[in-house]
Amino acid sequence: MLHVNENYSKIQASYLFTEIAHRVAAHQAANPDAKVIRLGIGDVTEPLAPAVVEAMHRAVDDEAGRAAFHGYGPEQGYAFLREAAAKADFQDRGVDVSADEIFVSDGAKCDCGNIQELFGGDVRIAVGDPVYPVYVDTNVMAGRTGANEGGRYSGLSYLVCDASNGFVPDPSAAEGCDIVYLCYPNNPTGAVATLAQLQRWVDWANASKSLILFDAAYEAFIRTPGIPHSIYECSGARSCAIEFRSFSKTAGFTGVRCGYTVVPKGLCAYAADGSAVELRPMWTRRQTTKFNGASYISQRGAEAVYSPEGREQCRRTIDFYLENGRIMKEALVSMGYSVTGGGDSPYLWVDVKGDSWAAFDAILKGANVVTTPGAGFGRAGEGYIRISSFNSRENVMEAVERLRTIRF
Ligand code: PLP
Repeated sequence: MLHVNENYSKIQASYLFTEIAHRVAAHQAANPDAKVIRLGIGDVTEPLAPAVVEAMHRAVDDEAGRAAFHGYGPEQGYAFLREAAAKADFQDRGVDVSADEIFVSDGAKCDCGNIQELFGGDVRIAVGDPVYPVYVDTNVMAGRTGANEGGRYSGLSYLVCDASNGFVPDPSAAEGCDIVYLCYPNNPTGAVATLAQLQRWVDWANASKSLILFDAAYEAFIRTPGIPHSIYECSGARSCAIEFRSFSKTAGFTGVRCGYTVVPKGLCAYAADGSAVELRPMWTRRQTTKFNGASYISQRGAEAVYSPEGREQCRRTIDFYLENGRIMKEALVSMGYSVTGGGDSPYLWVDVKGDSWAAFDAILKGANVVTTPGAGFGRAGEGYIRISSFNSRENVMEAVERLRTIRF
């Protein structure tokens, strides 16, 4: 008899964004004239930087002629992109990461989801609460958890991130865990971690032979001096951390698709007999077996993000989103809400002091604005909604005016 992977049945039936889409569709059907403004899902709205578009056009032209045609590329990514990323994202900031430690992919989601394949079925996993659901669901699918009871999977450690710890958990909460997923600037809370906070995690991981999976998908939004852009700014992180990067929010690549993962040389996990096994060759093996590379065109586009014009254009777009966030945060604070995030992140995490789905419904019905209920990101997200800065200025101003007219 053909058996399914029963772990899939443990996954909560209603995926957050499916449920939101369902409620928005019902609202729109009942109010066909309503102009709904979507500040929910974290997709970008601004077009690609001109430097990126030009580079991708040139890459298409390469593909149009025999001389510069590119078929399958190196699974680890083209050297031109790995070298540009290693230099601009790390070496120019005084951080030790080399091009051959960078693995280009079609985005951070796949890498965050696939990395767990390198580890044993019995490793103990810790995630933040609230959390980007990919870290959790991929471990559920792999059978590392028990059933979901009351919104939490047994066998998984949840690190509560709330106002009491500034939305950054302390390593003492992860006692006995082998792997911890950290994401800063955080989705969904918009919080950032200081160098001292991340250093505590690195020291904990090295002392306990644990691993940090650091998701830096939003690092390009950091504007506050001194806030780390990479886990490798902490001393000792090369021996205990893998980092995920994405061009999605940095450069509007949510549709183009490109990202990369850093697996430092010498970073190890352990075999049953206690011997150290290097993870970089394992990830190379995994990628060469299961992945055939991001497209040449998107990699040429990503390379252009690092050109002087590309950097400036992408920075301006991010500044535009940050200004959206500033406008919304200022308005919400003036309305009496306590708001985390914005400033160094595209997300605002708004304390609604009550049921987050009720606040979501009140805002949808009263203001025709779509947000994301915090409870969808975990138990500790209850009482909050996430508002995204990814929208036009016009919509942001309109949303703010509408929000001023309701209570939620
Ligand atoms: N990591 C976090 C925290 C995210 O919020 C997202 C996308 O929203 C991703 C990773 C996925 O990024 P990508 O588009 O590169 O797959």
